[in-house]
Amino acid sequence: MYRLAHYLLPTTKEDPAGAEIPSHKLMLRAGMIRQLMAGVHSHLPLLWRAIRKAQEIVREEQERIGAQELLMAALSPADLWQESGRWATFGDDMFRLKDRKQSDAALAPTHEEIITEHARAFIHSYRQLPQMWFQIQGKFRDEPRPRSGVLRGRQFIMKDAYSLDVDTAGLDVSYANQREAYQRTFRRCGIEFVIVGASSGLMGGSGSEEFMVLTPSGEDTIAVCPNCGYAANVEVAAGHLPPTGQTPPSAGALPAMTPVETPGQKSIDDVAGFLKVSPSQTLKSMLYVTQEATPRAVMVVVRGDHEVNVDRLTKVLGGVGVRPAHDAEVQQATGSPAGFISPVGLATGVMILLDQDILPEGAYVAGANRAEHHCTGVVPARDFPAFTREHLRLVAEGDLCVTCGGSLTVSRAIELGHIFKLGLRYSTTMGAMFLDAEGKQQPIVMGSYGIGMERIVACAIEQHHDDKGICFPLPLAPFHVAILALDPGDEAVLEAATALGGSLEAAGWDVVLDDREERPGVKFADADLIGLPFQVIIGRKGLGAGTLEIKRRRDGERENVPVAEVSSRLQTLLQEEAARYALPS
Ligand code: ATP
Ligand code: MG
Repeated sequence: MYRLAHYLLPTTKEDPAGAEIPSHKLMLRAGMIRQLMAGVHSHLPLLWRAIRKAQEIVREEQERIGAQELLMAALSPADLWQESGRWATFGDDMFRLKDRKQSDAALAPTHEEIITEHARAFIHSYRQLPQMWFQIQGKFRDEPRPRSGVLRGRQFIMKDAYSLDVDTAGLDVSYANQREAYQRTFRRCGIEFVIVGASSGLMGGSGSEEFMVLTPSGEDTIAVCPNCGYAANVEVAAGHLPPTGQTPPSAGALPAMTPVETPGQKSIDDVAGFLKVSPSQTLKSMLYVTQEATPRAVMVVVRGDHEVNVDRLTKVLGGVGVRPAHDAEVQQATGSPAGFISPVGLATGVMILLDQDILPEGAYVAGANRAEHHCTGVVPARDFPAFTREHLRLVAEGDLCVTCGGSLTVSRAIELGHIFKLGLRYSTTMGAMFLDAEGKQQPIVMGSYGIGMERIVACAIEQHHDDKGICFPLPLAPFHVAILALDPGDEAVLEAATALGGSLEAAGWDVVLDDREERPGVKFADADLIGLPFQVIIGRKGLGAGTLEIKRRRDGERENVPVAEVSSRLQTLLQEEAARYALPS
């Protein structure tokens, strides 16, 4: 049994500086993490124990569907990434290095390339398929904005699994098995989630879904239809503008386009306020540069109250990635600083894409391509050079569901897991082939399935905490029971505490003993902060009276139990608690 007097548990009373979201604050306060540099943390014993519990659940559920655990190296040679094309497309997110012979290598941000190398080395016949491989291992990504503690780290631990099948029907089965394993895994961890349709992003492939935890602290945004259950990441969500949401085109004669001075009015809200129109009557123009051998400039125009959907933009451009143009590029393409740009009078050479919710015959306020100036009465069909209309904006709260016409809600969420149908993306580019029953060479059909291990614990804390601290769901709790010895100097108290802990441990429960020379108030506060499911309070007074107090952290429920019955009563409570998360095997 661990004793807190000699345990690494650096708790703090005050809210730590620089932490904004509950799980980050609480992990710092409960002495679970120590930051070494931006996005890089040590996992102190309390967190590591919780992650180990999560790993065991993940492992059991992966093995339940027949996935085999292996461990690939984090260090990987550049040529594999060059073969797949991702040496280029991963860009600055990839940690790259050179070895002593000046060969390029990478710290793997994910492992599709390495899996594909193994598949082409070892899988040769349809008789060997299907197979599913997984690992629980460190990943490295030089995230542009590491934050929220271990929720977005630059080094983190991922469970990543990969399926190999002979055809898409096989992939569908592997995918469904992983989907089910994910649902069981998160339920067993006590985490509520929603499954949403998602973008395949840099992974490539045909279909993907994300497992999302709804919380205002999330960095993702998802659209949900409460009416029919449709749910999707806004990157891919579809929605119709409600009829009341459209700016009516000006009736009769269209207004003349008129330049107006708008000194210092750069943002949509500034301009709309200054010219006394609603943001929906303005146009937001954004310049992007394509990431190709010969980069192109693309101007995307959405209504002022809408946001550009970069994922859609990439699709419209046939899969070509984009980045926002730098200030100098904006100046060069439009002759104006950002904040005052639009397609009005724009030189050829810049591709113009208009969101389809902009009315070509409507009159809007738009940039004048001249510093400190906008134009009123801009009519796209009349005043813009040639443009293409596409669906290019993010879905917004109140849009109509494309499936049932219901009103969509938009909420923040944390992505906990992501499952992809990769299809032939890696097997064809890297040559992972097998011989089918007719003796013909075929590419292996692949899937890829990830879960962030730190995110499991962080999401559990986001969902299970109160103003006193964490309330760990039992399956993830670093220990199940905290025994608080209020008078640790008293031999009888220490003896009773040790005996109780011993009998609980013998029954398979994890126990920690707070034997620190601290005031009772400090022990109570720390026990609530670290959030173990049960506390037993042992003091001289209680022992003298023959009863001890048991407290359930989750709801603060307390009971006094005769000393001789504490161990058996606790075991009953622990089993009841465990049953809340159990699933039939
Ligand atoms: P995000 O959109 O949050 O960056 P992603 O789409 O890049 O996630 P995947 O590549 O699908 O994530 O990785 C699989 C899982 O790994 C994610 O669902 C998430 O739980 C976890 N994960 C991804 N990036 C990080 C990170 N920087 N820190 C911690 N966990 C991460
Ligand atoms: Mg990412």
